[in-house]
Amino acid sequence: MATMSIAAGTMKVAQISKRGGAFEVVEREIPNPARGQVRIKVQACGVCHSDELVKEGAWPGIQYPRIPGHEVVGVVHEIGDGVSAWKIGQRVGVGWHGGQDGTCLYCRRGDFGNCRNVQIPGISYDGGYQQYMIAPVEALAAIPENLDSVEAAPLLCAGVTTFNSLRSSGARPGDLVAVQGIGGLGHLGIQYARKFGYKVAAIGRGSGNAALAEKLGANVYIDSKATKPAEELQKLGGAQVIIATAPNSKAMSALIDGLAPNGKLMVIGAAFDPIEVTPLQLISGSRSLQGWWSGTPADSEDALRFSELTGVRAMIETYPIEKAGEAYARMMSGDAQFRVVLTM
Ligand SMILES: [Zn+2]
Ligand SMILES: [Zn+2]
Repeated sequence: MATMSIAAGTMKVAQISKRGGAFEVVEREIPNPARGQVRIKVQACGVCHSDELVKEGAWPGIQYPRIPGHEVVGVVHEIGDGVSAWKIGQRVGVGWHGGQDGTCLYCRRGDFGNCRNVQIPGISYDGGYQQYMIAPVEALAAIPENLDSVEAAPLLCAGVTTFNSLRSSGARPGDLVAVQGIGGLGHLGIQYARKFGYKVAAIGRGSGNAALAEKLGANVYIDSKATKPAEELQKLGGAQVIIATAPNSKAMSALIDGLAPNGKLMVIGAAFDPIEVTPLQLISGSRSLQGWWSGTPADSEDALRFSELTGVRAMIETYPIEKAGEAYARMMSGDAQFRVVLTM
């Protein structure tokens, strides 16, 4: 029963048909999985800032029409030939890492995330803004029982990105770790940082976020409007790690002097303009600057299990797929509290 299934009719998808185009909700035939692929009946898909790469065509070589979405949760609905580890009816997720070639030097070293031919759902192939999605098995993560599909969706990009960058940052329990930005990424970063046992400084703009930051687990709130965050961090001894989540290169540059000796600025907020730092700033105190992408499906499973265990959850606004354009605009406005999720 694995192959040759006849498409079960049509489905709703939200697609972008040209660079800079609007979201169009259209009907398409439900696709069939090829060898090594599964068909997922999508239940929820997060709307991520990186979906802008699809909408505005900023990703090189993107082909239209394209269906965005790389925070996908659903149920395996059909399996292609050669798929043995996943079962029909099983709940799965698909995040930013949508598959690897298995043959490049980085894959041969086991570093699948840096595959030279890495695939990204919603960019390399159609993503989760649709009722049924095809994904290769390399992209699949199992969803823990106690997370519902809407809750799990944002954890597949925003969640794993903050979780994975923090756990790879070298910070140890008790260290001062700052989270810059209280938004889609930052509100998860604060929660993970607290649960990892760090002393957490949350850096936000204005006094309005202080109560929320504390509720999310911050030990200290630093208002970047009223103070110089780097100075405030130095008053606390300097941060071992600063996770920079808000895509604002100027704000990131201003944080480097807040690092402790051997401290690291971990950059996860994707901006296009340069971070400014002098060699002397890095040399004094042996400070470093590192970028971090998201994570493999195995990393996503770690993030999901940790979230299930510790209660880390995204704050979510949901929209039906028919309102994909509205949902995207809400995410882009920066006013969403904090992740937007489409339901099918
Ligand atoms: Zn994303
Ligand atoms: Zn590879």
